[in-house]
Amino acid sequence: MLYTYKHINHDFEKIQKYIEHLVLNVWCKPNGNFLINKLHPDFVPIVNGVNPRYLKNPIKNVYRICNGLLPAQLLKLRNGFLANNSIEELCMGMGTPLLYSEIYTIRPALKRQLELFFKNLYSKVPQIIAFKKVCGEIDDYYDKLVDTNEKCPFCGINDILTPKHSKRDALDHYLPKDIYPFNSVNPNNLAPICKTCNSSYKGTNSPIRDNIGVRRKAFYPFAKKAVKLEFKAKFNCTSILKMKKEDVELKITNSRYKEQIETWDSLFGIKERYAIKLSSKDARGWLNTMLIDFKINPKTKYKSFAKKMEYYENNPMEDNNFLRVTYFNACKQMGVFN
Ligand SMILES: [Zn+2]
Repeated sequence: MLYTYKHINHDFEKIQKYIEHLVLNVWCKPNGNFLINKLHPDFVPIVNGVNPRYLKNPIKNVYRICNGLLPAQLLKLRNGFLANNSIEELCMGMGTPLLYSEIYTIRPALKRQLELFFKNLYSKVPQIIAFKKVCGEIDDYYDKLVDTNEKCPFCGINDILTPKHSKRDALDHYLPKDIYPFNSVNPNNLAPICKTCNSSYKGTNSPIRDNIGVRRKAFYPFAKKAVKLEFKAKFNCTSILKMKKEDVELKITNSRYKEQIETWDSLFGIKERYAIKLSSKDARGWLNTMLIDFKINPKTKYKSFAKKMEYYENNPMEDNNFLRVTYFNACKQMGVFN
């Protein structure tokens, strides 16, 4: 990724605490009949403030099923909750996530009820007044996360809707909520993302497992520091103005993060999208503008080129500048500016 999101303090985070209490202290420690006062006291008005089909019924049903489970099965749920909410560790290749498909093997009904609960918790509950009173507005949480960033961190080339817009982009469940239970409202698993990255490329693919289920490392969207990536392109064509995406040979490197870079590319089609950008009309426009400047001021052309490159390097997220640098370096290598 191009940059990472900074954690913010927001009431939205409270919901995860109530869920932690529900899973670890209520569902995983069933004792007698279900009573509403077993829930975290601040979660009760939220549960009561929404159609019982969304939360109350699945909470009771999961409790009833858990009451009939073996201690080892309850321990599996507990460990699964802890693992599935350790998003950073999972991205680093540590820990073992628990999948819905594994819960199905414990009890099919348990999988169904958990799915119902965690999906409603994200899609229905943040809209209700009782939730907003305690956990604030999810739109406000999005706005604070996006802050002054205007580009999607996953691709760096598309705009992301900002607090200035009246609409917002999606909060991506980085670990998809269809595959992994327990983390549908974990702030560490919710990252603002552009539509192309979210819907066209990533979809329901998992960053931490490939298509055949093999674990892999992935960038963590809330890492304290973004990984520094090096971009190098070579254009295998004779005329740069007629270049096609197939002519672009792109390398994205950081020797310590090879696997994460591969995952990133496979999830978001990064190399394909960058090759298209580097062979696009936009890129030809970058070159033509630079050449016009050279024609007007032939004596200062190298100085002007260096100054512009310095600016692009210092402002990588502005106007595709990180790709502009890559592009002009490749042009230079081809002898376009000689
Ligand atoms: Zn994107």
